[in-house]
Amino acid sequence: MAGARQETATARTLTLSVPGWQSHRAGQHVDVRLTAEDGYQAARSYSLSSAPGEAPQITVERLPEGEVSPYLVDVADPGDALEVRGPLGGYFVWEPDARARRPLLLVAGGSGVAPLRAMLRQRLRSGHDTPLRLLYSARSWDAIIYREELLQSGPPDVQVVLTLTRSAPDGWSGRRGRVDAAMLDEVAWTPTEQPEVYVCGPTSFVESVASTLVKLGHRSDAIRTERFGASS
Ligand SMILES: Cc1cc2nc3c(=O)[nH]c(=O)nc-3n(C[C@H](O)[C@H](O)[C@H](O)COP(=O)(O)OP(=O)(O)OC[C@H]3O[C@@H](n4cnc5c(N)ncnc54)[C@H](O)[C@@H]3O)c2cc1C
Repeated sequence: MAGARQETATARTLTLSVPGWQSHRAGQHVDVRLTAEDGYQAARSYSLSSAPGEAPQITVERLPEGEVSPYLVDVADPGDALEVRGPLGGYFVWEPDARARRPLLLVAGGSGVAPLRAMLRQRLRSGHDTPLRLLYSARSWDAIIYREELLQSGPPDVQVVLTLTRSAPDGWSGRRGRVDAAMLDEVAWTPTEQPEVYVCGPTSFVESVASTLVKLGHRSDAIRTERFGASS
């Protein structure tokens, strides 16, 4: 592990230094395995949150009572060795397609923003002109991962829409409340514009967003999902 940056009180981005790393695709993940002194092992998947061509990064949200995430957020230090396998996964990946130029809709709940940040960074770094919208649901202002980066202004066809579900600071002019049909109807492109959709977050969030998009008329085969696990 080459570096660490605290993103929120409970989330940290780790920069990995992996000998022989041959880049990755936006949306892929790695498996991290920890081994205790008594030989007990635990492995968990973490999405790569940096763009292809950048040093590999993962962003980990600490779960109370979790086996692996508290170690990665609170204990591991730069210089420590981690056992990493990857990059893995070939379904939940996005690559700019110069021919299709379909708009890209990214919908994130909580730490589900990690692989979608890789897609956003790839879109910005590649200079490709795919119109992109990221709709990101966080509990509060303090829980927004990559906050400074996401609030930076980008090209006009790249939009970041934040919604806060539990509390919002005074003067907050963004959205409030959970991602629902009305919000998706406003933020997503219309089905006739055929956006490519990537949804990532806790399992219940992903299932709710994906089924709502289908009810709004989006094709289910245009929606790719990544489930991080049970909602806390
Ligand atoms: C493909 C993939 C990519 C992933 N990418 C990321 C990532 O980029 N960042 C990240 O933080 N996590 C990511 N996850 C989730 C991650 O793999 C772990 O499940 C998570 O860190 C919890 O591990 P733990 O050992 O700390 O908790 P565990 O010991 O496994 O679980 C502790 C408790 O939390 C509950 N729980 C398990 N997972 C979740 C969850 N996701 N949300 C809420 N409650 C949960 C369990 O039911 C249990 O009660 C990803 C999962 C998958 C499958």
